[in-house]
Amino acid sequence: MLVKTHAAATAAECDDVRERIEAIGARVRGVNANGRTVLICAGDTAALRRLRLESMSGVESVFDIPQPYKLAARNGSADTIVRIPGPTPTQIGGRTFTMIAGPCAVENLTMLRTTATAVGAAGANLLRGGAFKPRTSPYAFQGLGEAGLEMLGQVRAETGLPVVTEVMDARQIEAMLPYVDVFQVGARNMQNYTLLAELGRIRRPVLLKRSAAATIEELLLAAEHILAPGNGDVILCERGVRARETKTRNTLDIAAVPVLKRETHLPVIVDPSHAAGRSDLVLPLSLAALAAGADGIMVEVHPHPAEALSDGDQSLTPSEFRALTAAIAALAPLLGREVPAVLEPVRAA
Ligand code: PEP
Ligand code: MN
Repeated sequence: MLVKTHAAATAAECDDVRERIEAIGARVRGVNANGRTVLICAGDTAALRRLRLESMSGVESVFDIPQPYKLAARNGSADTIVRIPGPTPTQIGGRTFTMIAGPCAVENLTMLRTTATAVGAAGANLLRGGAFKPRTSPYAFQGLGEAGLEMLGQVRAETGLPVVTEVMDARQIEAMLPYVDVFQVGARNMQNYTLLAELGRIRRPVLLKRSAAATIEELLLAAEHILAPGNGDVILCERGVRARETKTRNTLDIAAVPVLKRETHLPVIVDPSHAAGRSDLVLPLSLAALAAGADGIMVEVHPHPAEALSDGDQSLTPSEFRALTAAIAALAPLLGREVPAVLEPVRAA
């Protein structure tokens, strides 16, 4: 339900309305639209109707929200900017085009440090790298687990780059908190509702990847599972969907970007690496993402892709990543986007 207040409504009147909604256990997201407060409410619609909010002082009108994803829906609200306090404050959303880069998996400290230093110098704003790896085969490298997290923490301190890493299970969240600036939910876990609900109870940004089989509506409803318990810092990621094509690992659904930007206020990024499965396609797909209106990209980079323990075929070398960030920096201003300044390393390793 959407509650529009009068332009002259007082703060106390708006608070009364909010309290009445929250008293029945519904969630409220307040947005400012043309100088007036609009309360977006998510909860039991019949119970919300029974509150007869339209009769409260300060309320102008009340509407049903037609979309099933009540808090994620755009509903005229401005873009949400997810702020990442991290070692160096960063943001995803708004005019910024954010670049996340790093290896598929943390393999050892040296390769992580080498990659992080290279991508940071080339303009990456956040470091990615999996410590817990959801692999299609149980016999493939599963990641270094907690040892990998410690390496991420160390390289984060050395470079100042905030860390994005994947959480596979709700039981891992607490141990990960000291090392993680953004929790990644992988494509395979997009509908792990227990995990999503737990991430909704913490105050740390979540990067939610679209499942290869999910519709855009299912992705937005997955986001709603994180928003509903109270975590508003959700970033959506298009990473390719399964189609009949065999020349690429997945098919990048580039149309999902403008559709999502219209449907939701949440930031939307693209992962061209997992979409393509081929390093030679990462640059053109990244430029397509920028042109389509994405708020950033997440790209896999490895110092020696041929030796990577996972996803070497789709990993860029550091010099290929430099070429990519140069191309992004050249195109971004033409599209009204800003590329954040390159970070100075916090201290040399
Ligand atoms: C990853 O980012 O390393 C990953 C496993 O991606 P996805 O969940 O999109 O397959
Ligand atoms: Mn990968």
